[in-house]
Amino acid sequence: MSNQYGKLYVVATPIGNLADISFRAIETLKQVDLIAAEDTRHVKLLLNHYGISNKVMSFHQHNEEKAAESLLEKLRDGLSIALVSDAGTPLLSDPGMPLVRRVKDVGLDVVPIPGACALIAALSAAGLPVTQFSFEGFLPRTSSARKAFFTEKLTATTTWVFYESCHRILAALQDMAAILPPDRQIVIARELTKLHETIVKITLANALELVTQDDNMRKGEFVVIIEGAAKASKEDNGLSPEQLNILAVLMRECTTKTAVEMAVEITGARKKLLYQAALDLEKAGST
Ligand code: SAM
Repeated sequence: MSNQYGKLYVVATPIGNLADISFRAIETLKQVDLIAAEDTRHVKLLLNHYGISNKVMSFHQHNEEKAAESLLEKLRDGLSIALVSDAGTPLLSDPGMPLVRRVKDVGLDVVPIPGACALIAALSAAGLPVTQFSFEGFLPRTSSARKAFFTEKLTATTTWVFYESCHRILAALQDMAAILPPDRQIVIARELTKLHETIVKITLANALELVTQDDNMRKGEFVVIIEGAAKASKEDNGLSPEQLNILAVLMRECTTKTAVEMAVEITGARKKLLYQAALDLEKAGST
């Protein structure tokens, strides 16, 4: 990339505790030509705290597309720009995606300056599996849409995470309790890095009771993490219910030999196990 063009720095800022910012982020905010901020007043609190006096322009979700074009022009003119949001990492449930996509599309440099992110902070202290997880952002606002969403997630076997506000945390848990089993483990991470930080790992039933009864548990900002559903266990014959089901359906249509061969191909299960299960099914007369 030629040096004549400016770079876009995507800078993570604190999610509460102002000390949660990297040296590199502070240097970047000092050195860029312009800071594009979700809320200019909000970022100025941070800049004042670190004695940074730099030019700040507004970049929020209502002017994103238009502002992206104007920022792109500035990058082409050789200016360097830092993108920041109100809290944490830009783009994560925050503005910035159209700008970053546009800058990448035209081949200019986008440089991440990593740091705080509520989702990652919550996961790091949750005590639930994080090898694989899905981030769901904010939930739908209506109860029926939320229930439809929870129904979709009911059998997801990996951890899933969403952001919630104090206005909807109770309603979200009530809708969740209508769909998910009461003993599902969940983690409520509230006010992370702030004075009233609370991280509780409890069953869904207990979480609903806690948030219903304790007014403080309906205040502040929330990350909610849900344990994945238990993986479908294998039967005594070493096959999963789905594998057995496929075998039984095939046995209704073909000879046992063909059904077993096709089931091996479709399910990937061992032929010996499928053959034994086919004999058992024949004996039980269930095909
Ligand atoms: N970009 C941010 C990040 O990196 O985490 C998130 C911005 S999103 C608009 C704001 C939501 O993130 C809040 O409604 C809350 O769900 C979550 N959040 C932000 N700060 C938090 C904190 N200190 N504790 C718990 N949740 C927080």
